[in-house]
Amino acid sequence: MKLTSRGPSETEEIGFRLGLRLRPGDIVALFGDLGAGKTTMVKGIARALGVDSGEVVSPSFTIITEYGSSPPLVHVDLYRIAGAGDLEDIGLWECIGGNSIAVLEWAERAEDELPDGTLRVRLTNPGGDDREIAIEGLDEEDRDHLQA
Ligand code: ADP
Ligand code: MG
Repeated sequence: MKLTSRGPSETEEIGFRLGLRLRPGDIVALFGDLGAGKTTMVKGIARALGVDSGEVVSPSFTIITEYGSSPPLVHVDLYRIAGAGDLEDIGLWECIGGNSIAVLEWAERAEDELPDGTLRVRLTNPGGDDREIAIEGLDEEDRDHLQA
């Protein structure tokens, strides 16, 4: 499905609605350039899980941040990852899946390695404050919920 966001608060709201649909074990892969709105969307997902969105920042330097929600939210930023081999080194596969909900920024870095069932979210900036947000992998009920 494709959604258009007209500003940061709309992107966060889309994240919030998506977050309400997520279940333990879900993995959300966020694709898009710097400034596309990936972290903004994660703030909304975090809020849906009861995490203070002010706690959510781009985890570029830490690569993996886990928030103590229930289920836990694992926020990953793959910006600094050079290749698929690094994914093992950072322990990505031990940190995602399981009972947590994982969101991955710069999922381009792991595209060929993403587990089956990963939700793919592609954010693009056509200009100004608009963002096109394409989400793949949702069932019909989830789509209805996000459209409303
Ligand atoms: P990323 O994590 O993809 O690098 P961020 O969410 O950190 O992106 O930053 C997005 C930037 O773009 C912020 O400065 C935000 O204010 C701005 N922005 C403008 N319009 C939007 C929009 N519709 N959705 C999300 N961010 C937007
Ligand atoms: Mg970011």
